[in-house]
Amino acid sequence: MEPTARFCLRCGHPLEARPHHSGEVRPTCPRCGWVFFADPKVAVAVLTTDDRGRVLLVQRRFPPQAGRWTLPGGFLNPGEAPRARAAREVAEETGLVVRVGALFTVVEGRDHPQGADVVLVYAARVVRGALRAGEDACATAFFPPEALPPLAFRATRQALLRWAARRLSR
Ligand SMILES: [Zn+2]
Repeated sequence: MEPTARFCLRCGHPLEARPHHSGEVRPTCPRCGWVFFADPKVAVAVLTTDDRGRVLLVQRRFPPQAGRWTLPGGFLNPGEAPRARAAREVAEETGLVVRVGALFTVVEGRDHPQGADVVLVYAARVVRGALRAGEDACATAFFPPEALPPLAFRATRQALLRWAARRLSR
């Protein structure tokens, strides 16, 4: 079900269901005209590989899925460039400076209530730096496709399955 709102985010007045010019009935502020839309949540994740064909993962320190491993990543803020966000997440979570390259894949669909609706997964290569787990991570390490650790999140598993399938089919 689509999330909704009862009060205006801009002025605090109670919202009313009113016809919108899109043809839908939307929660609308009768005082200031603000209209509520539930926008999809978009996240970026980064598939960084090294010269030995291994992938960079971080072990989550906090719930959900604490202790499991995932690709470095995070939610995209409004107005933020996805590649810049991707590079910053890798730097914060792993200590490595990466060059973010092509879009590797897109994973759709939320698999838990705090999750993203769309995950943009970028390929990246290490430029410099030394591995050092960030505050949100217990550990960070490179793994070969045939020996991945326990993974968090369906988006992580789907992205890594697609990556491992390409690696192992060579
Ligand atoms: Zn208002």
